[in-house]
Amino acid sequence: MTRKKNTGTERKPENENSWREAGGRTISRIFEILSKNCPEPKTELESVNTYTLLVAVMLSAQMTDKGVNKATPELFAVADTPEKMTALGEEKLRNYIKSVNLYPTKAKRIIETSKILTERFKGQVPSTREELESLPGVGRKTANVILNCAFGKPVMPVDTHILRVSHRLGLSGGKTPKEVEEDLMKIIPEVYLKDAHHLLLLHGRYVCTARSPKCGSCILSPVCPKNLEAKP
Ligand code: SF4
Repeated sequence: MTRKKNTGTERKPENENSWREAGGRTISRIFEILSKNCPEPKTELESVNTYTLLVAVMLSAQMTDKGVNKATPELFAVADTPEKMTALGEEKLRNYIKSVNLYPTKAKRIIETSKILTERFKGQVPSTREELESLPGVGRKTANVILNCAFGKPVMPVDTHILRVSHRLGLSGGKTPKEVEEDLMKIIPEVYLKDAHHLLLLHGRYVCTARSPKCGSCILSPVCPKNLEAKP
């Protein structure tokens, strides 16, 4: 696939006729099916406001959402703003999140980010990619998740589930999350783009799993090239 430069938030949709077909059906059909099955997809990370969502997303690197959700309720009960997190301090924060992978590094970055949010952003989580990516521990994927989940922007965070599902559905041959993100931003119909991240992620997490995809009961089996290839 020829890739065009795309910043993520400034999507330039192509003519519908140019959208690539997957398994003989249009990409629109894939998202129509997923969307009907799950009309209001949302993150499974628990949070109480935009700041705690940012903290939860920062904790979720190399960690399941369920694992993060076990650690965060007690933490957010005492620190649900950047000011309170800064006052809590790195050492006490570590105790709350010690069940989370890489917790020492994550604690350090959460405290650094909280200080910056307090000092430069009046305690608010910024809503632009540039500002988000300027925060310690916030890369492109985390910024995309916040832009999408907190601010409703039509962007495409790509994690391991979305990368795998995109390959299997023939939506992208990209090798890196950035390449897959660029492909998806070009081919997913505008109407589905805001929810596309969660639709693909949840499908990958519960149906199109890494080791044993449930093709037999998958609602996308009629339009999935991988499944069609497997048929005699
Ligand atoms: S048919 Fe199988 S490979 Fe295709 S999307 Fe469904 S679970 Fe994944």
